[in-house]
Amino acid sequence: MAKVVHKFGGSSLSSAERYQAVAQIVLSHCRAGDCVVVSAAGKTTNTLVKLWQSYQQDDIQGFSDILLQLENHQAELIKALFQAQPQRQLLSQLDTELQVITLHAKQKTLHEAALLAHGELWSARILGCYLTQLGFAARHVDARRLFTLHQGQLLHQQNKRSCAEQLSERVLYVVTGFIASDVANNTVTLGRNGSDYSATLLANYIDASAVSIWTDTQGVFSTDPRKVASAIKYPKICRAQAHLLARLGNPVLHAKTLSPLKHTNIKLQVRSSFDVEATPTEIVKEGYSKAKRFITTFDDLDLIRVDALAQGEVSELSHLIQHSIHQFTTKGEAFLLIPAQSTHRVLKVLSGRANIVESALQGFAIVASSADIAQLQTLAAQLLNEQNVVVRFNHQDKEYALFLTDQAIDSDVLAILHDQLVSKDRELAVVIAGLGNVGEVFVQQCQHQVARLQQQFDVKVVALVRSKKMLFSANGIALNTWQQQWENESNTYSNEELIERIGELDYEHKVVIDITASEAFSDLYPQLINQDCHLISANKYAGTAQSAWYQQLCEQLFERNLYWRYNTSVGAGLPINFALADLQHSGDRITHIDGVFSGTLSWLCSSFDGSQTFSSLVLEAQKMGYTEPDPREDLSGRDMQRKLLILARDIGLTLDLADIELEPLMPQELAQGSWDEFLTRREELDVFYEQQYQSALAQEKVLRYTGSLHVLESGKVKAKVGIAFVDKSSAIANLTPGDNIFVIKSVWYELNPLVLQGPGAGKEVTAAGIHSDLYWLVQMLK
Ligand code: ASP
Ligand code: MG
Repeated sequence: MAKVVHKFGGSSLSSAERYQAVAQIVLSHCRAGDCVVVSAAGKTTNTLVKLWQSYQQDDIQGFSDILLQLENHQAELIKALFQAQPQRQLLSQLDTELQVITLHAKQKTLHEAALLAHGELWSARILGCYLTQLGFAARHVDARRLFTLHQGQLLHQQNKRSCAEQLSERVLYVVTGFIASDVANNTVTLGRNGSDYSATLLANYIDASAVSIWTDTQGVFSTDPRKVASAIKYPKICRAQAHLLARLGNPVLHAKTLSPLKHTNIKLQVRSSFDVEATPTEIVKEGYSKAKRFITTFDDLDLIRVDALAQGEVSELSHLIQHSIHQFTTKGEAFLLIPAQSTHRVLKVLSGRANIVESALQGFAIVASSADIAQLQTLAAQLLNEQNVVVRFNHQDKEYALFLTDQAIDSDVLAILHDQLVSKDRELAVVIAGLGNVGEVFVQQCQHQVARLQQQFDVKVVALVRSKKMLFSANGIALNTWQQQWENESNTYSNEELIERIGELDYEHKVVIDITASEAFSDLYPQLINQDCHLISANKYAGTAQSAWYQQLCEQLFERNLYWRYNTSVGAGLPINFALADLQHSGDRITHIDGVFSGTLSWLCSSFDGSQTFSSLVLEAQKMGYTEPDPREDLSGRDMQRKLLILARDIGLTLDLADIELEPLMPQELAQGSWDEFLTRREELDVFYEQQYQSALAQEKVLRYTGSLHVLESGKVKAKVGIAFVDKSSAIANLTPGDNIFVIKSVWYELNPLVLQGPGAGKEVTAAGIHSDLYWLVQMLK
C-alpha cells in the first residue's frame, strides 16, 4: 500500500486542543507506515530565534525570561495532554533539555540550528506520545537521522537509504520538520518555514503516493480570503503556478516545497486542519489543470537593480534572509524584490553590485495564463488609475504582472481588482470530437469565433479528439498552430482516459462538440453528462436512439442543468430547429412537416431529366463527393428517416425510427451485396427509377424523395420517408438541386405554409451552424 505523508504546521499545533484535533485527523486519515511531519508548536521557532538573539547580545535576563516562556508553554501542553506517568517523564525530559541549553549558554557553546531544532523535537515527541497514549502505534523520529546535507546539498541516495532502514516498521512515524544534519552530525535547518519541504522530501525518499499539507487555510485562494470575501478557493492548481506564487512570496506554499515532487507522480494537497470536511486544493502536474488567476499582495519591499548575478546567488541570499526573493529581468537588467528589513544585509553581500531603485513599496502581482496577462495588465492599470493608486514600478512577465505602489492595496481596492480581474463563472472549456471535413473547417473558423466570444465569455478549446488520437491541453490549444501541436503532442487514448481527462477539467462550464459520425461516440454521452458537459451534436445517432435511452439522456441533462444543441443534425446550417422552437414558444401547434432533407437525394432527383441514366447520375454524384462512400446509404433513405425523427422529437412527439415508414429509392434487392455487385446490376436501378419517373409524368407531377410528418386531429402521427409525386408548381418540385426544403404547416400557418429552403449540406455552412450552437450556448450560460 502506498504511503502518505501528512504535514501539520505550527498553527495546527498551537494549543492542547489543536494537538487533540490533529490526533483525531491522524486517527481517521493515517495508516501504519504513513508519516506525519510536524513543525514547532505555534510561534515556538520565533521565540527560539529571540532566545538566540538574547544569547548573542549577552542579555542574560532576557535569555532566562524567554527560556521560562518556552518552558511554560511546553509544560502547559504536556500537562493538558498526558496522564500522570507519561506526563512526569515528558516534563523531566524537558527539564533536562532546558538545563543543557542553560549550561551551553553559560559556556558560550550554544549552537543556533541545534537551539532552533528544539521546537520541532518537542512537537514530534508530544504528538508521538499522545498518539501512543490513545492506543495508536506511533513513534517520533528525529529527522537529523534521516536527512543529511553536505555543503548545503542534500545527499539524496544516502537519505533514501536512511529512510528505508529507519522507517520500515508498521507504525506511524512522527517526524520533525525543518531540521537535518551535516556529515559531521551538526544540526542544520532547511530554512524558515522549511517543514513543508521536509514533508515533500520525505515523500520522495519513501516513495509516497501523496503529501497532505494540513494548515490553517482551506487551500490555495485566488487572493487573500481574509481581505476579500469573494476570494475563490481553487480545487486544483498546477505546479508551475504554485511555484510562481511561492516565488512571488505568497505564503501558502514555499518555493522549495515543490522541488522534490518534480519528475514524480506524488500528489500534493493543501487542506485545513481546522475544517477537515472542506475540499482541499490539489497541486497537480502540468497540463492537468488550466491556469488560474491570482492576485497576491506585497508589503514593504525594496526594489534593487543588480549587475551580474551569479548562478544560485539569489537562492543563497534568500536563505540568508530566510525569505523568498523575487527576481526578474527587464530590458537586460536584473531586479530583485527584497523585504525592506533585509535590504541592508543583501546590499552588503552584493557589495557595490546593487543599488536601490525604489524603496518602501507595496503592491501586488497578477498571476494568470500567458494568453491573458497583457489584457489583465491593461485592465488593472485602468482600475488603479480610477482608484487613484499611483504605480511606481510596473513589470509584465510571461505569466504575471507586477504593480508596485506607494500606498498599501487595502481590501476595498483589492476587492475591486479581484472582482474585475478574477472571474470564474464565465469560462467554458470546449472539447471538439471529429476532425473530418466539417470538423477541420469548424476548428479553422474557431480562431475568429472564439476571439469574438471572448469578449463575453472566456472560451478555450482544450481538446481535439479523433477516433485514434487526441490532443488535450487544459490551458487551451493555440488555434492558429493546432496542426503542429497535434503532430507533436497528440496521443492515443481509451474512452476511459478521455472521460477522465474531461472530468478533470476545472472549468466552470464544459461542452463536448460531437462532429463525428460515430455511433460509438454518441454512446459516451451519458458519461459526458456525468462529467457535467453540455453537448453540441452534428452527429445524429443520439438524437435518433431508442426512445427509452433518448428520454433518459434528456432527463439526465435536465437534472444537471445542462444544454444539448444539435442545430446542424438536420438541414446543416439551416435554422430549422430554431423555426420549430420559435413557433412552439409563441404558442403555435405544428401539424405538418414535409420536405427534402437530404442534399444528395435532392441533387439526384432535381438533376434527373432523362438525358442520362439514374445510375450514372449516382456515380457522378459519388465522384463529386455528394454521397456517402457507398451511395446506397443515401438511396436507402435512412439518413432522411433519422432527420425526420429528430424533427418529430423537436415538436414533442414520442417516436422511434421504426414508427417512420421507409421506402428506399432503389429496388430492395439492390440494398444487399457488395458495391461491385451493385455496379453489375445497376440497370435494375435505372429501370426502377425510370418507371417511377414516367408514372409521375403521366400524372403531370414530378418525382421527388421526401419526408413527411402529419399530426392528425386525433393526435395520431403519420410519418413516412419515400418517393412522392408532387405538383409541378410546388416549392418541392422547384428545388435547386442539392438544396433542402422544409415546408411547415401549423395552426397559424395553415393554408400558406412556412417554407425554409437552402443548402442543407456543405462543410462551411455546417461548421458555421455548429458555431451558431456554440454562440447560443454561451448566451444561455451568460
Ligand atoms: N518551525 C519552523 C519555522 O517556523 C519551520 C516551519 O514552521 O515550517 O520556520
Ligand atoms: Mg510554520
